[in-house]
Amino acid sequence: GMHWTHQDPDYLPPEIDTSRPSIARVYDAFLGGKDNFAVDRAVALEGMKHFPDGGAGARNNRAMLFRGVRFMTEQGIDQFLDVGSGLPTMDNTHSVAQRINPDARVVYVDNDPIVLAHARALLATDDNTRVITADLREPEAVFGRPEVEGFLDLSRPIGLLLVAVVHHLGDDEHPEELVDAYKKRLAPGSFLQLTHFCSCAPEVRALEKVLRTMLGTGRARDLAEIERFFDGLELVEPGVVHVPEWRPDRPVRHPLDLGGVCVAGGVARKP
Ligand code: SAM
Repeated sequence: GMHWTHQDPDYLPPEIDTSRPSIARVYDAFLGGKDNFAVDRAVALEGMKHFPDGGAGARNNRAMLFRGVRFMTEQGIDQFLDVGSGLPTMDNTHSVAQRINPDARVVYVDNDPIVLAHARALLATDDNTRVITADLREPEAVFGRPEVEGFLDLSRPIGLLLVAVVHHLGDDEHPEELVDAYKKRLAPGSFLQLTHFCSCAPEVRALEKVLRTMLGTGRARDLAEIERFFDGLELVEPGVVHVPEWRPDRPVRHPLDLGGVCVAGGVARKP
């Protein structure tokens, strides 16, 4: 059947709460997307008062996401689990992977129902892509979903994407143990791509404060802390770096600007 986005552009499913900002929609606002509301734009605008390069930070992160997916697909990875996938944008994990391997399968996971609403419409015609609403903090539930377990072959290598999502976990939620629970489930030869809000500049900490106050989440960590999420895996060159430095397509200008240093991450292989 038809999807609500096509039938009536002003209709909103009841599960979408426009009275409070959501992470996915604020990120969309930073990216300059259209899938956000006044409450979300207010957070992005306040953030950009303290951190004018917020949009560049989000775009740099998204660009590194795609370079990582391209890299993993070139290494033979043909199935991806993209957790905290966010709203669809101009380009997406499945389109990047399927440009190289049309048979590549992708499952998108996000706990914000707006992602499912938008992605469903976009993916209605794509047999190799699934999208589910589930919570990163419940790995057993994520891996147990038929759209994951019955669609990806978890006895073979996959590409696990935890891109710009782990920083939405507080220290009290034990993010390292959580990431470990995911790593344990991966078959040897699998890859993990992880990026994270990086506390490398005072301006990032100002942005962090805005996100925590207005959105209730957002935790910057330093390079050493981010690298620890890859423990037990073999980091691919150049290791954990600010995202523009990760296998760039074009020469990178130094020193990096704020939009360049606010997110760091890498890609690693499970031996
Ligand atoms: N991965 C995309 C990227 O890097 O371009 C989107 C990143 S966006 C900053 C973070 C996404 O993670 C949002 O869409 C948000 O809804 C989702 N998210 C946050 N906490 C989550 C959780 N506990 N479980 C699943 N998704 C979560």
